[in-house]
Amino acid sequence: MNARLDHRNPLVFDTHELGRRPGAMQKLSRTVQAPGGDNVFGIADVIAIPGDSPVEIDLRLESVMDGVLVTGTARAHAEGECVRCLEPLERELTADFQEMFSYPEAEERHRRMAGTDADSDEDESITPLEDGMFDLEPVLRDAVVLSLPMQPVCREDCPGLCTVCGARLADDPEHHHDAVDARWAALQGLAGTMPAGEKDELDGAETGVDEKQEK
Ligand SMILES: [Zn+2]
Ligand SMILES: [Zn+2]
Repeated sequence: MNARLDHRNPLVFDTHELGRRPGAMQKLSRTVQAPGGDNVFGIADVIAIPGDSPVEIDLRLESVMDGVLVTGTARAHAEGECVRCLEPLERELTADFQEMFSYPEAEERHRRMAGTDADSDEDESITPLEDGMFDLEPVLRDAVVLSLPMQPVCREDCPGLCTVCGARLADDPEHHHDAVDARWAALQGLAGTMPAGEKDELDGAETGVDEKQEK
């Protein structure tokens, strides 16, 4: 467990106002700044929520027997680039999440029921409240990252880039290369820059063999 939660952290929420009477409900809205650098939500250079950009969070806190059930929605703006044509792209994201934060005594009771195996998977699924507070960051991060496209494309039928010259095919649907023509063009260009003597040498060398084969 990390250090105690800091109520000044915008992603730390306090449940004291909600109270512990089962059935009590509280709605909260908060806009936080997305983390940047190594903590960025997403994969930097592919698609991510830019650091310091706003993430709008709507939360519903419900008091239940063993803790507080948190249901929420986050809205954010993602930026990245198309995996096919590398053009920049933007997405408006909506991510839903739900997490149960347990009272410490409920967590202990659960731990006893789970037996002596303190490291069982069941224990990991319980997030305890600390001093009546919880940190939404891991929940929000998982929800936002899961809502990001794994292979973002500028449009579903993006044709990508030409594998020969890297031209953007969406700009030029007729674009194609004839492999033999391309080699001819390169060869002719090369020959044109050569003085007459060297040109003859070149023709007699291996490039000349290539030329004959292509004819
Ligand atoms: Zn594209
Ligand atoms: Zn091309």
